[in-house]
Amino acid sequence: MSKPSELVVEVKHVSKTYDSVPAVTDASFTIKRGECFGLLGPNGAGKSTLIRMMYGASSRTSGEMQVLGLDPQKNGRDLRRKIGIVTQEDALDEAMSVVENMQMFARFLGIPKDVAKSRIDELLAFMSLTHKSNTKIQELSGGMRRRLVFVRALLSDPELLILDEPTTGLDPAVRQLIWDKVEAFKRRGRTVLLTTHYMDEAEFLCDRLVIVDNGTIKLHGAPRALINEHCPGFVAIWSKSQIQAGDGDDVASAPNRRLERATLSELAEDLKREPTQPEIIRPTSLEDVFLKVTGRELGSNA
Ligand code: ADP
Repeated sequence: MSKPSELVVEVKHVSKTYDSVPAVTDASFTIKRGECFGLLGPNGAGKSTLIRMMYGASSRTSGEMQVLGLDPQKNGRDLRRKIGIVTQEDALDEAMSVVENMQMFARFLGIPKDVAKSRIDELLAFMSLTHKSNTKIQELSGGMRRRLVFVRALLSDPELLILDEPTTGLDPAVRQLIWDKVEAFKRRGRTVLLTTHYMDEAEFLCDRLVIVDNGTIKLHGAPRALINEHCPGFVAIWSKSQIQAGDGDDVASAPNRRLERATLSELAEDLKREPTQPEIIRPTSLEDVFLKVTGRELGSNA
């Protein structure tokens, strides 16, 4: 039964160094049952390192962690049987078919054969892969492989689903399908931990998130609350090629020139005085929060 206040994950002052180079520094956060929690940041921010420590694939240098009541460093094997994990490296057996791969994993999990069969059928249908049941892995597209890794992650009917950059490199249709499936999983009262460098993904899926940069948690909160607190309103953006014509007087020292205003009418009023019109006008987003907090655009090193 779902208990909304129950903590599924507790991370306290966790740090990790590789040969004395810090990858994660003093990270602390909690994840409640039934929420989708995000680690958002550019490539190299420390998201995978953090998440790998959370399912016991990597040791921590200092700090404390509990995931589903277990310490991943001490009980990694037990923990990995209780959670679903989707990473970039899919480790599927190329020579075997879709259904054979799933049967093999079900045996590893100790799921009885008849239960496994109906669960595999159900999950392949859930991820729109039934028509590929007997296809060999080597013949699947990148998007199908990622969907199959979702099927595998859901086989144990996990309490917690950990997704490391689940839609990186996928086309928009597969991305949307995966988002829908994550939402459906969450509606069943289950918990999701997600890393992403896509602001729209974080904004769409996450109830709460932390923004990570250079191994450090910079901000913590609900996406909408972070936007309202740090940069509510609308932004106009001139691309670099347009900047020569402008006077470059506003907001952050980002590569593109930007003008932020609390309301659209205020922005429109100020734009009347501009010699060139901006390339983009849009409501502010987590992209702008990231820029404000780090001084860099997320795409600058993503
Ligand atoms: P992200 O997942 O946000 O892209 P990572 O956690 O992969 O970031 O990396 C964080 C930092 O740790 C980076 O500087 C990366 O180069 C470094 N790093 C990650 N894995 C290793 C490793 N196995 N050995 C040494 N350095 C690593």
